[in-house]
Amino acid sequence: MGSVGAKDVPQLLDANGKRIDGRGLEELRPLKIEAGVLTRANGSAYVEWGENKVMAAVYGPREVHPRHMQENTKAVVQCRYNMASFSVDERKKPGLDRRSQEISKVISEAFESVLFVEEYPRTSIGIYIEILQANAGTRCAGIVAASVALADAGIPMSDLVPAIAVGKVGGKLAVDLRKEEDNYGEADMPMALVPKSGRLVLLQMEGHMTAPEMAQALEMGVRGCQQVYEVQKDALKRRYAIQRPTEAV
Ligand code: ADP
Repeated sequence: MGSVGAKDVPQLLDANGKRIDGRGLEELRPLKIEAGVLTRANGSAYVEWGENKVMAAVYGPREVHPRHMQENTKAVVQCRYNMASFSVDERKKPGLDRRSQEISKVISEAFESVLFVEEYPRTSIGIYIEILQANAGTRCAGIVAASVALADAGIPMSDLVPAIAVGKVGGKLAVDLRKEEDNYGEADMPMALVPKSGRLVLLQMEGHMTAPEMAQALEMGVRGCQQVYEVQKDALKRRYAIQRPTEAV
């Protein structure tokens, strides 16, 4: 939500209701996912979603560091979301700032609710999300990548976790906001869903919308998540097919 003069605000919807990149209100940016891209992680995935480029690596279950974080009854889920300095227009100061810490925390909590953490007491499941190129929606892209990486690592979980941001631009609700829409739109609401149970495991909002609009935005987000879910499952199917090439012989 930028604070600029009205004359600087780009027109986010044209006369035909098309968005700044020509998309319809419920149209996602192109999404590509590849599972198993890193050899030294237990699981990994690379996601390109519009101009976002995100890598996720998963390690574990393994020993907890630092030791005092260990829990006797369950695995601890340790997520680190990091935005590379070169991922944004103006070089970002390296390191974990407050925003990254908050995002890391909410993503850890989202995954803790789908992973069978009680099966791995006194261990840690490490989820590393690296934002290589950012264009709004990076926490969602990170969750999408991390779920596929967790599945690639073979860590038992109840479901994959698709995610998407729904927002309000030019007075209309729209899914999967890009940077200009995030900056100059009226609202941005990232959410993550567990499709099998219909549970939301992450929901945040910046800006403002009415309660009826929010109800509609949630429905649009669920539909968007279903589309993302299909791409996630397809990435895992392709990964499985690559691992067993002899079956075709
Ligand atoms: P998300 O990426 O999940 O939408 P935000 O709404 O906080 O998270 O950020 C929106 C976009 O703003 C990011 O995707 C990125 O393009 C840009 N951005 C975020 N933080 C910074 C930063 N520290 N420096 C420059 N650009 C940033």
